[in-house]
Amino acid sequence: MRITRRQAAIGMVASGLAAGPARAEQAFAEGDWVVSKETTVDLVVVGAGVFGAWTAWHARRAGLNVRLLDAHGAGHARASSGGESRVIRVSYGGDPLYSRMAADSLAQWDVLSQRQSQPILNRCGVLWFSPAGDPYMAKSLAWLRAQRIAHSEGDSAWLRQSLPQIAFNDGESGFIERDSGALIASRAVQAVVADARLVAARYEAKPPVRLSNGAFGVGPFVARNVVYACGPWLPKLFPDLLKGRIVATRQEVYHFAPPAGADGQRYAPLALPVWADFNGGDIVYGFPELEGQGFKLAFDRHGPEVDPDTQDRRVSAEGIAAARAYLAQRFPGLADAPFIHGRVCQYENSSNGDFLIDRLPGHDRVWLVGGGSGHGFKHGPAVGARVARHVADSALPVEPRFSLASKAAVQKRTVY
Ligand SMILES: Cc1cc2nc3c(=O)[nH]c(=O)nc-3n(C[C@H](O)[C@H](O)[C@H](O)COP(=O)(O)OP(=O)(O)OC[C@H]3O[C@@H](n4cnc5c(N)ncnc54)[C@H](O)[C@@H]3O)c2cc1C
Repeated sequence: MRITRRQAAIGMVASGLAAGPARAEQAFAEGDWVVSKETTVDLVVVGAGVFGAWTAWHARRAGLNVRLLDAHGAGHARASSGGESRVIRVSYGGDPLYSRMAADSLAQWDVLSQRQSQPILNRCGVLWFSPAGDPYMAKSLAWLRAQRIAHSEGDSAWLRQSLPQIAFNDGESGFIERDSGALIASRAVQAVVADARLVAARYEAKPPVRLSNGAFGVGPFVARNVVYACGPWLPKLFPDLLKGRIVATRQEVYHFAPPAGADGQRYAPLALPVWADFNGGDIVYGFPELEGQGFKLAFDRHGPEVDPDTQDRRVSAEGIAAARAYLAQRFPGLADAPFIHGRVCQYENSSNGDFLIDRLPGHDRVWLVGGGSGHGFKHGPAVGARVARHVADSALPVEPRFSLASKAAVQKRTVY
């Protein structure tokens, strides 16, 4: 089949290289999309959340011809990667798999952030505190020391002296990872896509159709490889396989306005790091005021199971009251701070918190990527690099902890 000049031009628009993102989005929006069956691409990535965006980025870097699709656009408000901010820390209770991935990812986020006119990584530090002697914290500290990762640590006296805006209890201790901090979530995902010189074309993909030549049909594309990085939508796309193994839960976050003037400066990134209050697996965490969005607070425990398409996105009055009660206890200077806005998002939990990076059974070159389980954002660069390596090298073994076989149907969280 001869490719017409018009088809060639549209193909270039699809790559985002010829006409820029706006025009490619527009071509899709208008249904003005013609792709010759001869233009088989190396990889279609379905889902432009943090995992799909970094997968596409690394695949492009490896020289592959890549298309990126998303039903609603990159880093949109209902995606698990949407919203204002995410914690990036490198200690994981000494778990070498996630600790290394986080450190590797931090370096990549930093490079990308430095290329932006407005940073996407704020290295304001991350405080972790819990009752002294907590085994998870002890293992994190041992890892930080062994890896010579910049941090400060101390008991409740040190904590009080370092961060007087927080009310620490007697017998608590903590540490601050000095080079870690916060990622500006939605904007970061969009920056990854733009840096890859791609657009997330708006298209709702279905499971792949295997063609007679061994390639796969995915919507308007024919691809040699497909990655489905659909976050909480993965079990909706592959229900027989993933229902009960990836479970979306409702999560609320709350923003409060710090006071004006010098008192308010105590909640700005220079004075307050990202913080996590860890109590035997129950985590409350929050952020200094970033990008004028107020002081953010959230409870990390899993909410009720929800459908990401239909869940009610209004923050609950009970949630706001619980957040305020926590503020009164830990951040007395914010006890009466006005609630300014909140968000309802969802985690996409695997049974124990380990990610899913494995093939769709029966399809050598179709990958399922997800299960971020409330801690996946920071790892986007490392996940994307791993998936791109799988696409390029079919002999690369799947990490057993990321395998489909390891995904049980009973929720029992072990990764924090
Ligand atoms: C409130 C909250 C706080 C969190 N805090 C942290 C944190 O502090 N640190 C951290 O590291 N992680 C955190 N996480 C977890 C992290 O944000 C997620 O694990 C991660 O963003 C998941 O990314 P994803 O790419 O897998 O999914 P998503 O971001 O949901 O992306 C999936 C994309 O696939 C698209 N899609 C789905 N189906 C289709 C289809 N059929 N066709 C086309 N497109 C489709 C969707 O539109 C969506 O854009 C948090 C999550 C939440 C919700």
